[in-house]
Amino acid sequence: MITGKPFLTVEQIQRRVKELAAQISEDYEGKELLAVGILKGAFMFLSDMAKLIQVPMNVDFLVASSYIKTHTTGEVVIHADIREDVKNKHVILFEDIVDTGLTLQYLKEVVLSKKPASVKICTFLNKKAHRQVHMDLDYVGFDIPDEFVVGYGLDYDNRFRNLPYIAIFKEDSVDNIKG
Ligand code: 5GP
Repeated sequence: MITGKPFLTVEQIQRRVKELAAQISEDYEGKELLAVGILKGAFMFLSDMAKLIQVPMNVDFLVASSYIKTHTTGEVVIHADIREDVKNKHVILFEDIVDTGLTLQYLKEVVLSKKPASVKICTFLNKKAHRQVHMDLDYVGFDIPDEFVVGYGLDYDNRFRNLPYIAIFKEDSVDNIKG
């Protein structure tokens, strides 16, 4: 049983995912793609996108963390690196949300050091309020206000990732959102 008021509904999400996948398919026509999901948060977004992207594509993952509950630690830890050979590949990094930008700045550098043909960023959500570094975001699902959100892969303390929609999280709403 899943309850809680959606901030972005399943329908809104699926409509936008379709648009983004169409855009990527057009931009990468004639090329082969290496889609890299940043776990855990991007698992749902990438799996929806992968079903709709129309160019030949390999999928890999990178496990990283920088957040504890609702606060960034400022330090990015890579728990598991990409296992595919990245050299000369067209890479898109799929992220759940960009907040300060520190995680992606670091991870993009890590990928660039592996000498890919190109690297682009596709983020489901973009929260600009606390951006600390300039990041070029090539594909953005939704710009959102300064709220802590959960669902569609995003967690609070490893809960709520399985909500099919995005909800705004407040400490006192823990018991009202059941994922
Ligand atoms: P950044 O390094 O850009 O500040 O943070 C990126 C990471 O912080 C995301 O991958 C995500 O794990 C976490 N994060 C930032 N904002 C939120 C949010 O509103 N909700 C959740 N669940 N995670 C967030």
